[in-house]
Formats: sequence, C-alpha cells, structure tokens
Amino acid sequence: HSAWQGTQAVPADPILGLVAAFKADAAPRKVNLAQGAFRTDEGLPLVLPSVVEAERRVSSALASGAIDKEYLPIEGDATFRTLSAKLIFGDESAALAEGRCATLQTLSGTGAVSVAAAALCRMAGARTIHVPDPSWGNHGHIFRSAGLEVQNYAYLDHRTGTTLDFDGMRAALSGLPRGSVVLLHACAHNPTGIDPSGEQWQELAALFAGRGLVALFDSAYQGYASGDLDADAASVRAFEAAGVLPVACQSYAKSLGLYGERIGAVNFVCASREEAEAVLSTVKQTIVRPAYSSPPLHGARLAAEALAPSTASVSAPAGGSTPLSPRRQVLGDAALFAQWRGELRGMANRVHRMRVLLADALRAEGAPSPDGGDWGHVVDQIGMFAYTGLSASHVDSLRERRHVYLTRDGRMSMAAMKPADIEYVARAVRSVLA
Ligand code: PMP
Repeated sequence: HSAWQGTQAVPADPILGLVAAFKADAAPRKVNLAQGAFRTDEGLPLVLPSVVEAERRVSSALASGAIDKEYLPIEGDATFRTLSAKLIFGDESAALAEGRCATLQTLSGTGAVSVAAAALCRMAGARTIHVPDPSWGNHGHIFRSAGLEVQNYAYLDHRTGTTLDFDGMRAALSGLPRGSVVLLHACAHNPTGIDPSGEQWQELAALFAGRGLVALFDSAYQGYASGDLDADAASVRAFEAAGVLPVACQSYAKSLGLYGERIGAVNFVCASREEAEAVLSTVKQTIVRPAYSSPPLHGARLAAEALAPSTASVSAPAGGSTPLSPRRQVLGDAALFAQWRGELRGMANRVHRMRVLLADALRAEGAPSPDGGDWGHVVDQIGMFAYTGLSASHVDSLRERRHVYLTRDGRMSMAAMKPADIEYVARAVRSVLA
C-alpha cells in the first residue's frame, strides 16, 4: 500500500515548463526569453565581481577560524537584517531611527512574501489580499497556500495592453474596506515592467494613509530597475513617510545575482518599538521556527559584505539578539558597496541597451506594434521584462515556427537577450505579426 496512491500529477509550472521545452528543442537556432535571470551579452550567467570578492573574504575568514558554520538565529543574521532594512527604507527612515521595524532574513523574496502572508493571515486577521491584474504568477499560489483569498485590482490597461490603468487602479483601491491588504510591486512590476510614476506613488501613499489600507510591498528588483538603489525604493519610502506602516519583502536574487543562495528579508514597520518586538518574536516563534528553524548563513554573509557602506554606521535592529557579532561580520566596506552599486548600474544599463536595440530592430523590420504605437513601450518599461503586447497565439507561433520562447502573456525577458539574437528575434516577431 502506498500512502500516495490518490495523488495526481499537477501540470508543470508554466515558466519552468518552458525552460524544459527549450532544452529539449533540437532546432539549430533557438532563443530562450522566458525566464527572469540576467545573462551577459554572450548569454552567460553572471557572478558579480563584488560577490566573488565577498566569497574570497568569507573563505579566508573561515580558513583562519575567525568565523564558523554554526546556526543563525531564527530571525537571521543581525548585520544583514540591519543593512537590508536600511537599503530599502533609507537613511532618513523614521521607523528605523525609532527602532519600530521588525526585520527577518528569509528564504529569498518568495520566502519573504510567504512569511508576510502567514503573518497577515494569522496575526493581523487578514482574509483577503488584493493583487494587481496581472501579477507575478507565484503570488496567487503563495497567498492561497497561506489561507488568503486572492482578488485582483485593475493595473494593466487592457485597452492598450502596454500601459498602466491608473484611473482604474485608484478607483479599485478607493473602494476597498478599511484595513484591506494590498500587494504592490515596489519597482519593475513583473510581468508588465510598468510602474506608477513618482507622483502617482505619492498619490497612492496618501490614498493608503487616508483609507487605512495595509501595503504589502514586494521588492525583487531594487537597484536593478533604474540602476539606482534609492530611486527604486522611492515607492516604499513614500509610503513610510506618509505614515502607512508598510510590510516590505526583499529579494537579493536579481540585485546581487544570488539566485540560488536564497537571500531575502521581510520588514514589518510597526507603530512602536514594543509592537515591533512583539511582531518579531511572534513571527519567529510561530511562523519561522516550525517551518524551517533558521535561514541560510553563507549567502547572508556575502550580502552583508556587499551591502555594508561601513560597519560603523550599523546599529542593532529591533529585538535583534546580537547587534553586531564580530564572529559573523567579516569586513564590509564602502569600496565593496560602491563596486556593487556600479555592477548593478551595469546590469540595468545592459538590459536598457537591449530594449533600445530591440525596438530599433522591430521598427527597421517594419513589425506592427500590437498597441498601435512604435514599440516605444519596449524601451520605456522597467526591469527584466518587456510586456510586448503579443497574444498567446503569437507566442505559440514564435515558439513553434521560430523557436523563440516567451511566456504566453507576451512577456519577453530583456535581461536574457543577447545582441547577437536581436535581429533574429525582431524578424521572428514580424513574421508572426504580419
Ligand atoms: N517577487 C517577484 C515580483 C519576482 O519577480 C520574484 C522573482 N521572480 C520574486 C518575488 C522572488 O524571487 P526569489 O524567491 O528568487 O527571490
């Protein structure tokens, strides 16, 4: 007898399924633009030189016995937590100055959203979460598995397929009951690459404050979207400044290229230091401890190295066990932080260059833009992806006839694009549109 005899196989995750189909495709020329992972101009994965340097420092500290491989505390590495909170809320943050932010290191961005969802459901009494239409495919799975009902609010303007429906968004959010929980993408909205403007963020912050809505920010691309860490956190900072008490989820998968190391954080901005300490202890003991006990050590060390502007400016996070354990901190210095910021800019610039080249090539091919425009949206959108406006049947033709792989919502990874493939892709797109 098998305990599993009633188990039915479920369909593969659409994105990972495409990756498998791409690998199995025997065509001599094929292009994978389905997955959100940065590639160099040569199409290779990139380990950031600043991360290589952090690895070197960590290795030598291990070899000399200065640090060890003991467990991290449930809430994660104290230095990493402090630096991570500072990175998103900034130097001017009142919540950080007043010690009323509970920060936990998590299993990358997915883990951060998942811990936040459990906390909202079990501790804040949330029943429903409102997510943009569309949103990252995994959001629905995470929230439903935490016990929340998922409802969509207007985001993409379905009339154009390539712009923000801000009026629809504002109307939908204005109509929600007080205390409703709303997911926002901090920057580089996935899958659309379309963000509210600075002014629109200000307006949303005032709307959330006025209507007493709970903001859950998912920040998976800080620094990677515009190339500037502060610019990409402006949304979260505007909400904090407006007194909204946001929850902010962070991922270092894209910005530090630490995809497989699973490094992220969740930050609960609270009304007081006491509240932050109570939230931290409850999340630790009731959510993290029974699920996985504690987060990974190695990647947190690497991130803490790269994120540290200077060790002197690091103070203890709310409720942290050890403020700055010298046995865990390797070095962290201004030079490495500056180097990382330069590398981030380099990645963001490369993606932007691919956008410009692709739009030019599509125009040169005479491919008609699905929104009736001139492919300007491919250049204007932000982050890893272009939301092309291609339909599911266009995407199917691209894959079947030209071996170019996109997700069926027409999302194309510009981070995975190679200059050598631009012309081929533009011609393929024209062929399915013509
Ligand atoms: N949120 C969004 C919007 C994302 O695009 C991603 C990455 N695809 C994540 C969260 C989390 O990714 P990870 O768990 O690898 O940090």
